Amino acid sequence: MLVDMHLHEKTFSLDSFLSLDEIVSIAKARGLDAICITDHDSMGLRQYCEEYSRKTGFPIFVGVEFFSLQGDITAWGIDTFPDHRVDAQEFIDHVNRNQGFCVSCHPFRKNMRGLEDKLREVKGLHGVEVLNGSTPMDLNRTALQYCRELGLKAIGASDAHVPQNVAKYVTWLPEKVDTLPDFIAQLHQCETRPAIWNGSSYDVLTTF
Ligand SMILES: [Zn+2]
Repeated sequence: MLVDMHLHEKTFSLDSFLSLDEIVSIAKARGLDAICITDHDSMGLRQYCEEYSRKTGFPIFVGVEFFSLQGDITAWGIDTFPDHRVDAQEFIDHVNRNQGFCVSCHPFRKNMRGLEDKLREVKGLHGVEVLNGSTPMDLNRTALQYCRELGLKAIGASDAHVPQNVAKYVTWLPEKVDTLPDFIAQLHQCETRPAIWNGSSYDVLTTF
């Protein structure tokens, strides 16, 4: 299964130019099996996505990109999240109490929104974006080194706000799933691999 795990839709991410229709049509054209919507500090699109998935049969897993005091963390499997910035550890604990899954986004991107060395301090994080579409490749490689050192799941995601970036990087998972609980279970239980769009298909990688 191939899934883009970090996408912004314009209704609730005010810095995005992408509609859900546009995201899904690009994802389908590239052969993705699902997408995730991870708006900035919002899960407002959840109901619309559920209806959209029901009508079209295309799985959409809605999470959130939460801006903790130490940087952005994407998470799935929570119904609520703090309405103000809290410590990364507090947010990660909240996700774990709900048996969710959480990922450090673009940990080394130079925008003051990545966990950077805090990655080594927090407990209970599950994955690291080793390929983030808004991050230069050398800084993605640093993320890969930390991900390996810490034994976390390697995640690929576009972090797209504009059409040309959608599905540029994605995550490979061994099984195809349709529901959010099955998606979260597989993320916990199985190996994940980052993948790069090469212009005609995806290169699924163990290193880069
Ligand atoms: Zn983002």
